[in-house]
Amino acid sequence: MNNKNNSALILDSLFEAFSYVSSANYVYVCDMKTDLSRWNRDAVNYFSLPSEYMTNAGEIWASYIHPDDREEFISDVKKLFSGEKSTHNLQYRVRNRFGQYVVCTCRGVVLKNDKGELDFFCGAMTNHGIENENDVLTGLKNQYGFFLELNNILAEKTPCNLIMLGFTKFLNINNMYGYTIGNRVLQHAARFLQKIADPDDRIYRLDGTRFAIITERQSLEHIHRVYNGVQERMRSYSVNGMRINLSLCGSVMKLSNFNITNKTIYSCLNYSYQISKNQRHGALVEFNNKPDKTDIDQLVKINTIRNSVGDNCKGFYLKYQPIVDASSEKVMGAEALIRWENSRLGEVRPDEFIPVLENDNVFPVLGMWILRQAMQDALEIVKDNPDFIVSVNLAYSQCEQSNFVNDVISLVESLGFPPHNLCLEITERCRLLDMELLSRIAFTLHSYGIRLALDDFGTGFSSLMIVKTIPFDIIKIDRAFIRDICENDKSEQIVKSITDIASAYGAGVCVEGIENEIMRDKVRKYQVKSIQGFFYSKPVIFDEFKSFCKKERGLL
Ligand code: C2E
Ligand code: CA
Ligand code: CA
Repeated sequence: MNNKNNSALILDSLFEAFSYVSSANYVYVCDMKTDLSRWNRDAVNYFSLPSEYMTNAGEIWASYIHPDDREEFISDVKKLFSGEKSTHNLQYRVRNRFGQYVVCTCRGVVLKNDKGELDFFCGAMTNHGIENENDVLTGLKNQYGFFLELNNILAEKTPCNLIMLGFTKFLNINNMYGYTIGNRVLQHAARFLQKIADPDDRIYRLDGTRFAIITERQSLEHIHRVYNGVQERMRSYSVNGMRINLSLCGSVMKLSNFNITNKTIYSCLNYSYQISKNQRHGALVEFNNKPDKTDIDQLVKINTIRNSVGDNCKGFYLKYQPIVDASSEKVMGAEALIRWENSRLGEVRPDEFIPVLENDNVFPVLGMWILRQAMQDALEIVKDNPDFIVSVNLAYSQCEQSNFVNDVISLVESLGFPPHNLCLEITERCRLLDMELLSRIAFTLHSYGIRLALDDFGTGFSSLMIVKTIPFDIIKIDRAFIRDICENDKSEQIVKSITDIASAYGAGVCVEGIENEIMRDKVRKYQVKSIQGFFYSKPVIFDEFKSFCKKERGLL
């Protein structure tokens, strides 16, 4: 029997096996060497696909996927076929044979042969039914309805104010009173919002306990006033004769610029909502949409940067800041720091877009791009300096992805990167993650050989607990403690205490933000392993960083 027939036979056997064990609506198997797939009859009929056997099914299927979801699907499939990823888990909308969009969850795995080459891609898909704009619990329109209405507003260029509201600590209510009462509270809240809103306002229930309001008439001042009243009222809210304490948080945004997408609006509203929830005790936070020095609105800027993630991360690049050994002052590594640039906006620093985008569902794509780029660059340096460590910052939303650890390990393997030359910096905001999840991720990465650093130590909450629980190799002292170290004895004391804590847990200390010799000498009195700061170098592009290393070794 020739190879071709043999491969077709395996395709059919795998397909039968998958169909047998899968409880999902549809199954598919693709031979990754020939790109021949087999899909089950139900899928072929329901979506009116060309046939059960298809070549290049990924491209055919992409043409059925909703245009807003297509890019994410195509990028994921590309990664599967390039070996960068080995699992697929996406939810998207697909057009059926009646022209309606249905929501499908698609999960799949890549099987490799004994030589480690990509062999088959097998998966199953669940059809959740027709995309519905209504929320059954409250009778309001749901998140899809909100996105559709945003599209209408953008198309018709209707100036309006957008509000996102939500209850925090709702889990307590469910735990204390049960889900039925929890649901009743949400129904009440929906009716209450309808009562206080203008008759022309549109109200939506987003995910979970969050609501959105679109209003064309109510001014920002009025919204602030009403919000404060509602917040007060919710502190002792009566449902079925019971007094329930609800904590409200919220954000608001004035929309007067229409050259943006609905997803960017959501991302910016959500960013301000998270600030309300995590930093402002529920005060209504307005999204800052002031023009910057280039006269471009913050919203437009975020929109442009967000869209470039989907455009193969165009405009993004990394700068590197050397990390030197505290005693020899020789380069031992570098921190990769993201930048974005285009001709209109110039170079944009991460502080302007990372905090907004890190809660956005495009961030994991950018995060993997950063990791890949940093490791590819670092490979060049590791050749000459096998101890060189590249440090990469992680964002909260990356760690939350169910495939995060597998994706990192697959990437390290596909690049042939030595894991101990990579250090992942867990930033302040990652600590909002469930500790159990974070420690599972950390232990797996650590046991694989990847180093871990705790970034911005001392600026947030629960720092000591995290040091105790997670196997950090490095603790980075935030610049905030170093800035005034020459004038303030307390800052020096803090540096001393952190070095003591780190050594108690077997971690090294890296001090950031050293700008001159005096600062350097102050921190060198303590058990500091490495130093980073403008005194040695600002972050520079990779070519400059290579020259920096060569100069140090006397090669330039
Ligand atoms: P970070 O991780 O604490 O990075 C160090 C920041 O301090 C960098 O700012 C660096 O340029 C700055 N810095 C270093 N030494 C000195 C100094 O001596 N003096 C002063 N004044 N500043 C110094 P940058 O590049 O603007 O990054 C800001 C933040 O953005 C980072 O803080 C990090 O939280 C985030 N970020 C940057 N790149 C990435 C990335 O690739 N992924 C993620 N998730 N976040 C990133
Ligand atoms: Ca960092
Ligand atoms: Ca830092």
